[in-house]
Amino acid sequence: MPPSILRHQEWIGGQLISFLLARGPATRGEILENLPIRPATLYGLIQKLVRHGVLEEPERRGTHTGRRASPVRLRPDQGCFIGIDLDFPCTVGVCLDAGGEVVAVARRNSPTLKTRRQAQREIEEVVAELRRRLGPRWKKVRGIGFADPGVVDVQRGVSIRAVNLEGWERLPTARWLEQITGITASIYPDTAARAYAEAAAHRPAFPASLLHLQFDAGIGGGFVRGGELMLGDAHCAMEIGHLVIREGGPLCQCGNRGCLEAFAGFGALRRRVEELNEQGVQTALRAADFSFQQLAACHQEGDKAAHALVQEVGFYMGTAMAMAVTILNPGVIVLGGGLTLIGDSLLAVAHNVLTLRCLPDALKNLVVKRSKMPEHATALGAALLVRRRCLMEKIAFRQAARNKKMVRFRESRGLVGPSRGGDELR
Ligand SMILES: [Zn+2]
Repeated sequence: MPPSILRHQEWIGGQLISFLLARGPATRGEILENLPIRPATLYGLIQKLVRHGVLEEPERRGTHTGRRASPVRLRPDQGCFIGIDLDFPCTVGVCLDAGGEVVAVARRNSPTLKTRRQAQREIEEVVAELRRRLGPRWKKVRGIGFADPGVVDVQRGVSIRAVNLEGWERLPTARWLEQITGITASIYPDTAARAYAEAAAHRPAFPASLLHLQFDAGIGGGFVRGGELMLGDAHCAMEIGHLVIREGGPLCQCGNRGCLEAFAGFGALRRRVEELNEQGVQTALRAADFSFQQLAACHQEGDKAAHALVQEVGFYMGTAMAMAVTILNPGVIVLGGGLTLIGDSLLAVAHNVLTLRCLPDALKNLVVKRSKMPEHATALGAALLVRRRCLMEKIAFRQAARNKKMVRFRESRGLVGPSRGGDELR
């Protein structure tokens, strides 16, 4: 078989695995609708991947499936994949099987997480807890994905910097994880991992493009298009918390003034409540024990100061969203984090800003909604991302080994001339 045909088969095989990773189980008909592949080629490819233990069609018996179309899916027993989210006040670890089902969750409260050493200890303890929960299944763990709280070089597995964590700077975190566990590790920005989990939750199909924005102590975002994360060439894509919303505004922890985070982050809102308390404004909001829950409850009870604060923060939120919509034109925006506890009235203010500032066509089919994912969604996203990496690499290694065999065969027959693709295969 000439190498050009081999290359085409590799590409189609990669597309099929990538499709099933993004979409979950799918019938042959659904695969044919979505991938540029002939029925006969797909039939052969599925047979081969079933033989190699990568795919299964549990409802198919021989060539007949009965009336119902039989779904093709990734074999769950190809390994387990761990995701860890280092967060305040709770660090979470999740373990998935290759089919994407959660098999174990471990949590550890970390109310005083401040330094690199504390953070690494948290991670080690969550890993130990997962190991205990998995028992003999731990041997099946093939990859660990870590959701990093700061800026990340995904390719090199390096944590570049997290402003809230002392000493969390230029750390070879993936290598460190591999040393303490003996398992392949990857790291991702936590907001990107969360966006990936949000997109994956849109089964049976990834939305064409999804923007996720998280509003907590910090504000960040992630953008997924066609099942791929957009990370940026210098690892700084979607740092939406540091969009300057108003020139000369309050000081942000990044050193700039007027960033979205300096208006709508948790610390910024608590400072605003402090000002209101100092000015003697009549309100049930209290800076001393301020929380997003308190703001949501006061707003719900008709507190005027809380209402004004929600209007203000909704305006800034909408301003940042309008910039993102203008540049990215997403199909879905998912909002998450403590601030969204305020509910639909906050979304209504932000949506109003979108209507005033964006092209009508960009908004026509745009869906804006609040996240409904569980607390461990970010860890889940990191586990899904490392599952994707490991399974795609598994296919690539198998194909590379087959190609090497093919080259050796060609050489043994004296067929070492300038065939298309021959050089790159060796
Ligand atoms: Zn900033």
